[in-house]
Amino acid sequence: MRRISIFGATGSIGENTVDLIARDPGAYRVVALTGGRNVARLAAQARALGAEIAVTAHDDCLAPLRAALAGTGIAAAAGADAIAEAAARPVDWAMSAIVGAAGLVPGLRVLEQGGTLALANKESLVCAGALVMGTAAARGGRVLPVDSEHSAVFQALRGEDMAAVERIIITASGGPFRDWPAERLATATPEQAVAHPNWAMGQRISVDSASMFNKALELIETREFFGIDPDRIEVLVHPQSIVHAMVGFADGGLMAHLGPPDMRHAIGHALHWPDRRALPVERLDLARLARLSFEAPDPARFPALRLAREVMAAGGLAGAAFNAAKEVALDHFLDRRIGFCDMAVVVEATLARLSGESGLQFAPDTLEKVLAMDHLARQRAREVIGSRYG
Ligand code: NAD
Ligand code: MG
Repeated sequence: MRRISIFGATGSIGENTVDLIARDPGAYRVVALTGGRNVARLAAQARALGAEIAVTAHDDCLAPLRAALAGTGIAAAAGADAIAEAAARPVDWAMSAIVGAAGLVPGLRVLEQGGTLALANKESLVCAGALVMGTAAARGGRVLPVDSEHSAVFQALRGEDMAAVERIIITASGGPFRDWPAERLATATPEQAVAHPNWAMGQRISVDSASMFNKALELIETREFFGIDPDRIEVLVHPQSIVHAMVGFADGGLMAHLGPPDMRHAIGHALHWPDRRALPVERLDLARLARLSFEAPDPARFPALRLAREVMAAGGLAGAAFNAAKEVALDHFLDRRIGFCDMAVVVEATLARLSGESGLQFAPDTLEKVLAMDHLARQRAREVIGSRYG
């Protein structure tokens, strides 16, 4: 039996992971499940999978979690430290599906134990790629991509030599505002931004998809995961979300990965790797789909991609600053305190302010440095918002 844990079990990726695990209960021993305020759901998952411990991120949710688990023998805990402690319990495989920089520490704890980390939390690589990949290499752990584009690249690269890779192309659906003119984009509301045309995802990644900040994070994720030069990574808008990524080789050949927009494919691939097992996802009917289309992203309406390239060129802790500023801007957009297009303005201004201070150039090689930059960038982003929109 494989020992597994799921961090962010109650979210969109977490639920899809639980769905796959629950189909084959005899194959897994579930160690830890974590969630947020939805303690009823977390407790139900823990009971159904027979977990050792369930952890909520919020201290004030501990009492209801305990009550929901009474008599089961399943331990309950609360808070970020408790999540990190649960992540230090050895497992063979863990799903990193907390949203935001909060996913970094639990993932590192798994890798420090030499476990395999299925990484949906792209923020970990954006903030601390060198630290995450370095910890895996030093401790005999392994990182497997779960982001659909990165899983697709990983699959297209099976058996290939990285030296023959000329370019990696990740696709973007373009989100709900792909056709919106710039004037209308400025008026976009959180409700409109979360209405993704192809994927059912958590609220935050849905807004990031609409603004292309998700693809910006994924550009950096591609660089950190595959160690490829930023100039060799391209973004292509593909509204049908069927081709998830392509790898171009030195001989001009292009390997594309196609699949239905169902995250259980990428999660299942990471769960069973290096085997391929049957997965409960729709089989594509390409004749019925009839048409796959591609277009270049519009840099004027979606400046996030340019910002990601500037971040990659800057290196150091710029990724941690970029992600933190983006998280603060996103919070303020969701609270209707800034507009949709202001998110990119805030991130750019925050990075500009930080570039005048020391710190951004340090390598992301220790957790302390990464967390210090995360903290500083959040503070600067709030100052930028206060002075521009306060
Ligand atoms: P979600 O919002 O649906 O779920 C997030 C989970 O993390 C929940 O269990 C929530 O309780 C928990 N959580 C939130 N904040 C936390 C905190 N501060 N501390 C501890 N736990 C916290 O998000 P999601 O859509 O499942 O996305 C999860 C991650 O996977 C993100 O990094 C996202 O970018 C990535 N991802 C998601 C998809 C998708 O289809 N949903 C695809 C690719 C990558
Ligand atoms: Mg993705």
